[in-house]
Amino acid sequence: MAPDSYPSGNYVRPSFLSIGSVWFWVILALILLLAGGVYYYFYIYPSTGLLHTYHHMLMGTDVRLEFQCPSYQKAQQIKEQVFAEMEELERIFSSRLEESELARVNGRAGQAPVKVKPELLQVVEQALYGSELTGGAFDPTVAPLLECWGFLDGQYNVPSPAELREALELVDYRLVKLDLEQETIFLEREGMALDLGGIAKGYIIDRALDILAENGIKHGFINAGGDIGILGGKPDGTPWRIGVRHPRDAEELVAVLNLSSGAVVTSGDYQRFFERGGQRYHHIIDPESGQPARQLISVTVTAPTAMQADMLSTAIFVLGPERGLKLVESLSGVEVFMVTPDQQTIASKGMKEIME
Ligand code: ADP
Ligand code: MG
Repeated sequence: MAPDSYPSGNYVRPSFLSIGSVWFWVILALILLLAGGVYYYFYIYPSTGLLHTYHHMLMGTDVRLEFQCPSYQKAQQIKEQVFAEMEELERIFSSRLEESELARVNGRAGQAPVKVKPELLQVVEQALYGSELTGGAFDPTVAPLLECWGFLDGQYNVPSPAELREALELVDYRLVKLDLEQETIFLEREGMALDLGGIAKGYIIDRALDILAENGIKHGFINAGGDIGILGGKPDGTPWRIGVRHPRDAEELVAVLNLSSGAVVTSGDYQRFFERGGQRYHHIIDPESGQPARQLISVTVTAPTAMQADMLSTAIFVLGPERGLKLVESLSGVEVFMVTPDQQTIASKGMKEIME
């Protein structure tokens, strides 16, 4: 039988910090919480922080901006600044807007030099440098050709040989005169026009990354419809993984690239095209023949800046695999991945190293 009571000498009252005390567990929990907090603050937070993602329709595509910033409010401010700058630049380079800086230059072709904003001067200078570098495969004066194929207004049409000949007369980057001192651009022949569709998006992405960096951001990523600029690796130190879509199946990837800096840009014959008589006509034109370039169907370039990558992806699309590979080998920090019409893939040496 159980006794009614024990001798008082055998009863030990729990002290404040013994395991049986509620206080013991409360204090232990607080210590663990504090240690966890300190560990998170000093070791985890600096490498992850808060990753913000924003979307905005720009340059005819859904632009995705992602960056790490500890303050939600500051991130909002930076995002506004980035998108506002991108919008402003788009207005300068647009070939569709009648009041754009570019349209003013085109409007005075064959008549007089036009004083332009430094941004336009800079991009045209780089475009012409690209033309020199690629032996004219990249040519910012292709606008009359784009026009006669209907790529400027969407009225698609296969031009007659006479129409093509007429347009080809107006396509020559050597007829663009830049005066860097006067800050003017002059198109020497009447009817000439500049189109910066093969390079301006890259420039705009670079400017967006500059703004992130100026705001102290260490890890950022911007994707403008497959044209990608990168600032630092991912916050956790691993590279960004970038998928290259299959040129004939939007749901499939042909490659995955690991990149911690620089830019990746893809030019494809699937972005803007029309079909006539079973033939595909797309928007990257060989300035020599006036015809859509046919040696490749997709070209992905990695380069230190998005502007370089953008210009080179368009140029290599025109140059074709052999000359394209040769060009890339002569440039430092530039790699290429190409898909041929029979869907063979070709990668430069350095490209293979960053492919999964
Ligand atoms: P996207 O802009 O669709 O990403 P690209 O960067 O390859 O593709 O640019 C294609 C655009 O470049 C065309 O829509 C046109 O505005 C312009 N373009 C076409 N052919 C040439 C060329 N040979 N040189 C320079 N620009 C070109
Ligand atoms: Mg391009």
